[in-house]
Parts: sequence; structure tokens; C-alpha cells
Amino acid sequence: MEKRRSSGNLNLLRRRGGKKMGEYGGTQICLDGHTITYNYELGSPLQAKHCRKCGKETITQCLSCNAAIRGKYNIPNIITAGYKYELPNLCHECGQPYPWTQTLLDNAVEIVALDEYLDNDDKEIIGVNPCI
Ligand SMILES: [Zn+2]
Ligand SMILES: [Zn+2]
Repeated sequence: MEKRRSSGNLNLLRRRGGKKMGEYGGTQICLDGHTITYNYELGSPLQAKHCRKCGKETITQCLSCNAAIRGKYNIPNIITAGYKYELPNLCHECGQPYPWTQTLLDNAVEIVALDEYLDNDDKEIIGVNPCI
């Protein structure tokens, strides 16, 4: 009876390193967060200065640090079917929110502010209630 030594752990510990990985495609997104293209090469006909949906300006770089916004991650020799590009919320380089994220944040602040107003109203209503 031979007992096999488990070598499974070694496989788990093995790290992927030194391999040439893929590259991010260039992306162009309008200030409102509409994706124009997430995998363009320079000169692509898909590029546009303004969004076709809302007419806002498009950007390809972070407005804070000018780092290119990451598009689709292309791995050589691998075709990704049914790929769906996910809009990044924050710059991977400087961590600042992208314009469309900032818009969402601003809206969220407004909603919270509205909630606070409602709370104040509630407090006033409770405050002027003579029954207590
Ligand atoms: Zn747009
Ligand atoms: Zn940045």
C-alpha cells in the first residue's frame, strides 16, 4: 500500500508571474458616463468628441491626473464573447472620482440633504404638537 503525498497544495501556492499579460484598450466616455468606445485604437471611427446620447464632451483620460481611462482588458489569443464593459467609478491612478461618478455623488448628497430637510419638518411637526 503506497501512500501518495498530496501535491495539490503546491499548485495552489504557485503564482502566475513573468507571463506577458494583456493590455487595456483605450476608452472614450462622455462626462455623463455614456461609453462611446471601450476598445478603440487611435483613429477609430467610433471615436467622437461629443456623446451621441447627451451631447456632452467625451474624455479618454482622468481629468485629475491625465491617466488613460482603462477600457477592455485584452488578453492575447483570447476572444471574449459577450463582453460587457463596466464603467470605472474611480481613477485607478489617483483615486479621484470620474466626472460621471462625481455627478452621482453630487446627486446622492442632494438626496441626503432632502432627507435632512424632511427630518427637520418631522421634528417641527413633532415640536408643535400640543398634545405631548
Ligand atoms: Zn452622454
Ligand atoms: Zn486620475
